[in-house]
Order: sequence, then C-alpha cells, then structure tokens
Amino acid sequence: MLAIVKSTALYGLEGRLVQVEVDVANGLPSFDLVGLPDAAVREARDRVRAALKNSGFDFPAKRITVNLAPADLKKEGPLYDLPIAAGILAATGQIDHLKLLPYVLMGELSLDGTLREISGTLPNVLVAREQNLTEVIVPAQNANEASLVQGVNIYPVTSLNQMDRFLRQENEIKPWQADITTLMTAHHQEYLDMADIRGQEAARRALEVAAAGGHNILMIGSPGTGKTMLARRLPGILPDLSFEEAIEVTKIHSLAGLLKPNYPLVKARPFRAPHHTASTASLVGGGHFPRPGEISLAHLGVLFLDEMPEFRKDALESLRAPLEDGIVTISRVSTTVAYPAQIMLVGACNPCPCGYYGDSQRACSCTPNQIQRYLSRISGPLLDRIDLHLEVPRVAYQELSAKEPGEPSAVIKKRVQAARRRQQERLGLKNTCNARLKPNEVRKYCHLTIDARALLAAAFRQLHLSARAHDRILKVALTIADLAQSEIIEAAHLAEAIQYRNLESKYYLS
Ligand SMILES: [Zn+2]
Repeated sequence: MLAIVKSTALYGLEGRLVQVEVDVANGLPSFDLVGLPDAAVREARDRVRAALKNSGFDFPAKRITVNLAPADLKKEGPLYDLPIAAGILAATGQIDHLKLLPYVLMGELSLDGTLREISGTLPNVLVAREQNLTEVIVPAQNANEASLVQGVNIYPVTSLNQMDRFLRQENEIKPWQADITTLMTAHHQEYLDMADIRGQEAARRALEVAAAGGHNILMIGSPGTGKTMLARRLPGILPDLSFEEAIEVTKIHSLAGLLKPNYPLVKARPFRAPHHTASTASLVGGGHFPRPGEISLAHLGVLFLDEMPEFRKDALESLRAPLEDGIVTISRVSTTVAYPAQIMLVGACNPCPCGYYGDSQRACSCTPNQIQRYLSRISGPLLDRIDLHLEVPRVAYQELSAKEPGEPSAVIKKRVQAARRRQQERLGLKNTCNARLKPNEVRKYCHLTIDARALLAAAFRQLHLSARAHDRILKVALTIADLAQSEIIEAAHLAEAIQYRNLESKYYLS
C-alpha cells in the first residue's frame, strides 16, 4: 500500500514542499530510499527501523520503498525521519492514513523513538505556511521557534508513540503558542555598554556616526588601544530590531543550528567576529549543501574583522559583492541559493607590521614601503566600501584612570535612532540608511551650504581625494547632519566627514 506524508526542504532560506511517498509491497524484505538523499537521509533508514521497533510498532518484513519527491531537489538533514516513519505506519495500516493528511511533519528520531531537535525549523515552517498548510508537527524542542510563525498551528511531540496517540485522538496536543510580546521584551542578552570606555572621545564619536548611518568603519591603531572593546559595543548603540527583522535573523541562525531552545527568537543585533584564518566558505557561506557564512550570520548586525590585513586575500575579496548588494549568492551545479547579508563591517588593524607606526609610546621599526604593503592587503575596492577610517590612539594611563565613565550606550542609541528615523522618512523606506544611498540619491539628498561647498572643493584639491571618495564623504556628512537634526550639510559637518577619509595619504595608500 502507498502512503504520502508532507514535509519540506530548503534551498537557502527558500523552500519547497516535499512529498514523502512510502510504498510497502510483498517481496524480499528491503528498505530503499530514493530521491537524491544524502548520507544523512540514508542513515535515516537505520534510525527509522530501530525507532519503530523500539516504540512497539511492527516493522514490516516486506519491500519498502521511500521516495522523497520532487527528485530534482537536493535534500539533507535528518528532518525526514519522522515523516518516513509515519509513512511506514500509514502504509502498513498501523495508523490511519486520512488522519495524517492535514499535517506537515519534520523531526529526527532517536533509536528509542523519541524525537530530537532539528535545525532550520523556522524557515521550514514558513515554507509550510507559504503552501497554505497550517498544521505542522515538530519536535517539542523546536516548538517555541516554530510557533513564531503566525497563522500556523504547531503541534509539539516528544516521541513516535505520542504522535500515534495524538493522531488516534487519545492524547490531545494543543497548538503551541509563543508569547511574542514576552519574547521581544525579555532581556536575555545584554549588550556591552559604551560607558565602560574611558577617554577615546573621537573613536566613540566615529562609532556613533557609523551606527547612525549604517556605515562600515575601519579602525587603525596599535595593539592594546581598545579597538576590539569599541567594536563589541557597536551593536548596543544600533536601533532595536523590529519583530520582522528579528525573524529574519532567527531564520538564518535556525538554519545554521545556532538557536538555543529557551531563546527561540534572536532579537539582539548579531555580532560576529571570525578569526583571520577563516576560509572564504566560512565567511560568505558555501559547502556541498550550502550553509550561511559569517556575513549572513551577522545579517542586520556587525561583522567584525580583527587584524583585517591578516585575512586571506580571497576571503576578503569575497566580501566585496555582498557588501555592495546586501546579499550572498552561492551557485551550485543543481541550484543557486541566496542568503541575506546586510551588515555593518567593522575592520580593525594595526597601522603597520610591527604595530607601532604613529604610536606615542613606542617607535615603529617599519619602512614606508612595509607600511604601505601591509595596509594595501586590504584592496582599494574593498577599502572603498568602508566609509569611515578611524585612527584609535593610545590613551595614557593617567588619562584613563582620571576620566569619568563614558556616556552610556542607551543615551547614544537615542540619538542614533533619531538620525535613522530622519533617513527613513527622507527615503520613505523602513529598513534603510545613508550608507546604502545610490549615487543619484546622494546628489538628490545632500544639500550643502555655500561654505560647505567651498570646503569640499578645497579638500579635493589639497588632499588629492579620489572621485570615489566624493560620494562617501557626502554620505557621512549627511549622517552627521542627521545626528545634528539639520536639514542642510554645514561646513562643520563636512569637515568632520573629511577627517574620516584622510588615512589614504597618511598611510601611503593613495
Ligand atoms: Zn611599524
């Protein structure tokens, strides 16, 4: 007899419905899985057999054929254990086929028949909803995450036996409801606070400007000047994620298997800091079954590259297109997947190979040539996508101990939020910022006073700025004007923006 059970498959964050077709026929006992399953699905065979037997069900000594359709779609992961087991039960009359019909099933089985959590539950449940399927059975551990999807009834089950009793209506399972208000307001992840940073006024200001306009930033300074401390505090001054944005971030983390059962919703801005030995695939995503990379895990948050010149050149270059487009596209023979990657890039590096060029306390032993070579490992086109360049000086110990704690993140964040609101009203878009302005928009929205215009012209002549630097300076100046709640870019705003671009000449980069 033939039974069909519904499940889902993902490619990237998109997905499709999968029909798990199970046929049980007379003949020599066998158990075949077809429909391009990977090793994990083949292992499912052993798990399903053991789970059925250990749950007290009859495992038929017949010819069992399982087809995961459509066949052209690559499927992975152990989430088909549950639909395969249910299909065998239905095809052998151990459960009522009709009772299974309304449900989409996903879940990994242990050998004893209990269910294990799976990754990608949230995007998989979203696929079900897209197909207007509103009844979904998931492992109990994934119920919180699954119930973030509105308009779908989630039935958490702990074991095959429990599902069996549920389908026989011997054991009621109420659809699981996530309390979204509580999830959004619960404080389970505190940001680090800018108040911890004493001194460093210029760096604090630059981070505020970067946050206000969503600008990428490169910090240059000797070891121990606090670049990492500063970077780690950036997510805390960015505006809060909306529920929709939190869902976006959660989908990616779910797919990567990084969600914690008790914290099903990632509502904090991500902060990802891959090591400089990271491969291209781990940064932008990839693999046989493509996985999101660090840049996508940092979506709507911060990607921090410490010691940026030490990263592999191909890995750094792979960031260029995603930085421009806000999306990562991975091509495979059979398919192309896309992951979102709207991030703020924060780079940090020493000023030179020895680390002490321009330091107030130690002498640099490098030649201009070495300094130039070191920083030019960050290629021009990549550097071009970084709007703010910031020197982080060493703060003397006396100064550190004398200073009051810095301004707290909550206060800075209010100014950042006000500046972002101006940008969103100006562009009529919800999720945008000055950093993403197109060249025609820069011309349209950047209005300068006469003084500011004169200053811009003079800066180009004297600092030998490239034409490409022009738009970047104007975008940053617009953000500074937004922070000042000014409709027009004044000379002071422009002057500050120009100073965030003067590293090229100092570090022999132009
Ligand atoms: Zn040096």
